Amino acid sequence: MKALQYRRFGALPEVVDVPVPVPEPGQVLLSVSAAGLCHSDLHIMEATESEYRFGPLPLTLGHEAAGVVAALGEGADKFSVGDQVLVYGPWGCGQCPHCAQGKENYCTHPDGVRPPGIAVPGALADYVLVDAERHLVPLGGLDPVQAVSLTDAGLSSYHAVKQSLPKLTAGSHAVVIGAGGLGHIAIQIIRALSAATVIAVDVSEDKLGFALEVGAHQAVPSDEHAPAVIRKLTRGFGAMAVFDFVGAQQTIELAARAIATEGEITVVGAGVGAIPVGYRTLPFDASIRAPFWGSRHELWEVVELARSGHLRVEVEQCSLEEAPFFYERLKRGQIRGRAVATP
Ligand code: NAD
Ligand code: ZN
Ligand code: ZN
Repeated sequence: MKALQYRRFGALPEVVDVPVPVPEPGQVLLSVSAAGLCHSDLHIMEATESEYRFGPLPLTLGHEAAGVVAALGEGADKFSVGDQVLVYGPWGCGQCPHCAQGKENYCTHPDGVRPPGIAVPGALADYVLVDAERHLVPLGGLDPVQAVSLTDAGLSSYHAVKQSLPKLTAGSHAVVIGAGGLGHIAIQIIRALSAATVIAVDVSEDKLGFALEVGAHQAVPSDEHAPAVIRKLTRGFGAMAVFDFVGAQQTIELAARAIATEGEITVVGAGVGAIPVGYRTLPFDASIRAPFWGSRHELWEVVELARSGHLRVEVEQCSLEEAPFFYERLKRGQIRGRAVATP
């Protein structure tokens, strides 16, 4: 089968021919219908050899997966061959206290979270092996290309926004920094679940227009004037929630300057920015968190949000062979929404 693999440090990923995996007891083999390209894949491929903490090379990329059940390992009997499914990506041990709550993204087993495409072979391939049936969510009539990114861009945004919903009361403001794959979904989730006014911030003029199209009320260029512009738009109060989908030094500092007293900053972007926390850096009782992905149940919830028409992932479709070029475009900030490959 074809697989898009990251093979050598610093090199572009390549499509190669590898054997079709065979499911072990409890596992499920999916014929891949669609797989998303995430900015986190760029972080994987940008890590130097000494920084690299991911699966052994060559690594088949792709941690957003939709597929059709092709074969079931011994004892796997909850699904049937031909079923269309989405894959919950942060695979935990299934047994620890966090996994018991469906929060496998926060698995505390020493082996940690082992997502496909990050720790083990992923979905940018003709087939992907899923570790256990509990990671599968029925597609339920959604289009796999449209729905696949609900599993990460959707789920990670949903998890981030949901935690700050109590702050997003009528009259409040939410700032979304980075209107890319995750950010354009976060804007729609905030609009669907709250009465907050949404202010989008991006470096790209195109993305600011895109943010307004998907539901942001205001769009602000990400430059040195942004904190003052946001203060003005929020009548001097600041935003009750800031979601930073970049995580660079500049964006975290912007978040700290845009946040209101008692507001919540959520850093989802995996950039290397950081700020000290204290009376001198944040307004009183402002808080800051850095979540990872989301829970199994939240994936069901975000799928329902899409099914009910509150959320539409903007997709640019490509083939596996075109995926390296689409990663280059993603790096340059040129993808509108999410790039999704179909094998
Ligand atoms: P993306 O490339 O699709 O979107 C990033 C957006 O940020 C682009 O629109 C870009 O123009 C904009 N941007 C870049 N620099 C900016 C700046 N200084 N100010 C404002 N906007 C800026 O990326 P994505 O796939 O949406 O991922 C976003 C980040 O989230 C990545 O760092 C990724 O690794 C991370 N991520 C984290 C989780 C998690 O669970 N914590 C999950 C998925 C992705
Ligand atoms: Zn991702
Ligand atoms: Zn666990």
